[in-house]
Amino acid sequence: MTDTAHATGHDVVVLGGGVAGCVLAARLSEDPGRSVCLVEAGRDYGPRRQDWPAKLLDARALPRDHVWERHTAAHRIRARVLGGSSCVNGCWHTWGSEADHAEWARAGGPRWTAAAMEPFRERAAARMGLRPVPEHEHSAWSEAALAAARSLGHPEVDMAAPGGPGYGTPLLNAVDGVRANAAFAYLEQARTRPNLTILDRATVDRLTVRGGRVHGVDVVMDQGRTTLRADTYLLASGTFGSPAVLLRSGIGPADDLARSGVRPVLDLPGVGANLTDQPGVFLPLRPTPGLNARLAEKEAAGDLYVTRTLIRAASPYCPEGAWDLHINPVAGPPLFGALPPGQYEAGVATFLMKPRSRGQVRLRSADPTAGLDLDPAFLSDEDGHDLAVLRSGLRMAEELAATVPLKSLAAPAEGPSPRELPDQELRGRVGTYWHPVGTCAMGAPDDPYAVVDGEGRVRGVSGLRVVDASILPTVPAANTQLPVLATAEMLAAALTA
Ligand SMILES: Cc1cc2nc3c(=O)[nH]c(=O)nc-3n(C[C@H](O)[C@H](O)[C@H](O)COP(=O)(O)OP(=O)(O)OC[C@H]3O[C@@H](n4cnc5c(N)ncnc54)[C@H](O)[C@@H]3O)c2cc1C
Repeated sequence: MTDTAHATGHDVVVLGGGVAGCVLAARLSEDPGRSVCLVEAGRDYGPRRQDWPAKLLDARALPRDHVWERHTAAHRIRARVLGGSSCVNGCWHTWGSEADHAEWARAGGPRWTAAAMEPFRERAAARMGLRPVPEHEHSAWSEAALAAARSLGHPEVDMAAPGGPGYGTPLLNAVDGVRANAAFAYLEQARTRPNLTILDRATVDRLTVRGGRVHGVDVVMDQGRTTLRADTYLLASGTFGSPAVLLRSGIGPADDLARSGVRPVLDLPGVGANLTDQPGVFLPLRPTPGLNARLAEKEAAGDLYVTRTLIRAASPYCPEGAWDLHINPVAGPPLFGALPPGQYEAGVATFLMKPRSRGQVRLRSADPTAGLDLDPAFLSDEDGHDLAVLRSGLRMAEELAATVPLKSLAAPAEGPSPRELPDQELRGRVGTYWHPVGTCAMGAPDDPYAVVDGEGRVRGVSGLRVVDASILPTVPAANTQLPVLATAEMLAAALTA
């Protein structure tokens, strides 16, 4: 297919139908006079929940299909389906600190302050139908974890709203075990609008840029290639996908592009740089037979969920009033692998929420179906800040595990605590919280690594904005879905103002 019906112009094309893409497509198509085309590489399973694969709906586990790569390192996992990573994630919603917003406002201006973002946080939370964890969804372990946090004197906080350090439960976009993804929340009504087209199984290859303006976007579909044209191009392919599209389009670090066989069009050194994700290390414990029995009962009743308790805690390196750690006591089936029936994994995970280490996304080739070179560079910062914060978090995890409520359910594992391991061994234990950001970072006009401004406009190219997690220059001290939803709501409002 070359020039087809899709190729006729739209006012706006949204490139990537994940969390941010669903918000933008829904909000911009509210005006019947604006034609919007939403392009997603994965499948659209439509408006009826019964037509969606059971694994994507089941909020009790993290599915490992409908992803870009199967059987890959955990930090590479990202969804490939309409609704994006909201279809495969833990359904947790938490919010960051004032300090996060101060960082963003320095890069992107006053739209990004905590006060200015608040209406968009509220709008996103309402649209996603976020709700507290119902009593019956707590396991014996998560109830004990809440008691343990109280016993150590942590204050109770609302996890999905502005506040300070403390313990609590996230808000969920899951009801009775069903994951209500962003496609349900944002596209259910929008789908019927004649001015919204959804193109699924359509992979964005590259943008054509001439004279500093985008002239079209090449998309690969089952039937062949097509070119879409629009007045405004909104890139929403996520922290890995959005820099990849820019790089294939010749927008990025010129030397690197030439090495990947792409003709440089615009030298923007920040594209693909600054990859920031939250690493974590697990303190394993040995569940007592009593805990295993209670978890097995819960599982048999269909009520064993991924753990829903956490403490946001401040290490000695953290600014006053903020937090730089999530301490998550977990017990249930392992995220990876399997245990014999009736046996479960228990422990306390420690996540570094404000890492200083920075990785990168690079092309392996100019082929849009080829894998990407993704290096999160966990715990690599030169001054050792990230390792120090992590060790301080692991000490807190040990203290939590030693409280009466938790130690009566799980005993310390044999061998040294991860905190005592040499640096290299500790690095070998690192997993991810799956909250990558930063690869098309917004920044001030004098920042040579800025890719976009505070409204997502790509520097040096007119008609093109990036509107997803990739523009956040620093990761918030939060799970990123609610911050990304609020960001997309805010950018949609800026576009339509
Ligand atoms: C396993 C996992 C668990 C997580 N758990 C949580 C959690 O519990 N709570 C939380 O707050 N956050 C969680 N997150 C993070 C959260 O899901 C992300 O922050 C959020 O989805 C980011 O939104 P986005 O729109 O930037 O990207 P995504 O939602 O990933 O959307 C990007 C979309 O673009 C599409 N795309 C990419 N490249 C192309 C291309 N070339 N052409 C066409 N389409 C393309 C993708 O297929 C995808 O649909 C988790 C993430 C993962 C992967």
